Amino acid sequence: MPADYHIHGLAHVGPPHTVERLLPYVEAAKAAGLTEIGFADHDRYLEGLDFNVFSELERVTGMPVRAGLEIDFRPEKDHRRELAGRPWDYLIGSVHAIGNWDFDRPGQEDGFNAWDIDELYTVYFNLVAQAASTGLFQIIGHLDLIKIYGHRPRKSVLTLAEPALKAVAASGAALEVNTAGLFKPVGEIYPAAEILERAFSLNIPVTIGSDAHAPGEVARERERARQLLRRIGYTSLATFARGVMATESL
Ligand SMILES: [Zn+2]
Ligand SMILES: [Zn+2]
Repeated sequence: MPADYHIHGLAHVGPPHTVERLLPYVEAAKAAGLTEIGFADHDRYLEGLDFNVFSELERVTGMPVRAGLEIDFRPEKDHRRELAGRPWDYLIGSVHAIGNWDFDRPGQEDGFNAWDIDELYTVYFNLVAQAASTGLFQIIGHLDLIKIYGHRPRKSVLTLAEPALKAVAASGAALEVNTAGLFKPVGEIYPAAEILERAFSLNIPVTIGSDAHAPGEVARERERARQLLRRIGYTSLATFARGVMATESL
C-alpha cells in the first residue's frame, strides 16, 4: 500500500482548504500508483484546515486520505497545545529555522556565512533531537535539511547527526526519506545514505515523502528512494492512521 505523506495541498498559498484544490493531488497519487495519500500542510495554515475536506476526498476518490500536518518545530513554542483536539493521523516534525533565521527559504542563503559550519550542523541537529524528544511527532521530516544549499560540515555528518538519530530512535518516530532534496541545490535525497544506514542499524522505521507543493510533484523520484532503502536493507515502510503505526512492504 504505497503512501506519500508529505503533500502540501495548500502549497505556499494557504487557505481556503477545499475539495477542488486538493483533488488534483489525489488524482496524481492514483496515477502514480499510490494507494494512500496524506496531506501535511505547514502548521501556519492550521486554522485554515477543514477535516471534512479529507473525508469528502476519500468518499469521492475511494483512496484513503490521511490527515497530517508538518510542524515547523520551534523550541519556544507550545506545539502540543496548538495541535490538540484534532483527529490527526500523523504529525511531521521538521526544523526549518534556527532562531529567527528560516534557513531553507529562498533568499536566506547568506545566513550560512555567519556560522562556523560544524557549529551550525551541531545546533541544527540538536533542534531536531529536541523535536523528536517531545514525543509529539510520528514522523521526523527531512532530517538533514541543513545541507539544502550544499554546505558540508568538516566533521563527519554521522557524528553530528548521532544525537538526532538517537532521539528519533528513542521517540519511536519514523524517519522520512524526502525526495525534494533532489530538486534543491544540494541535489540529494534527505537524509544522506550514510545517515539512513545508521537509522537502519538503530531500527528506525521510515516513510517516503515527496514534499509536493503541486500535484505534478506527488511521488516524484519515489523509485529512487525505494531503491536506496532496499539497498540499505529496509523491507518495509511505516504507515499511519490515527497516530498508530503499521507497515507496508517496500
Ligand atoms: Zn519541511
Ligand atoms: Zn514540507
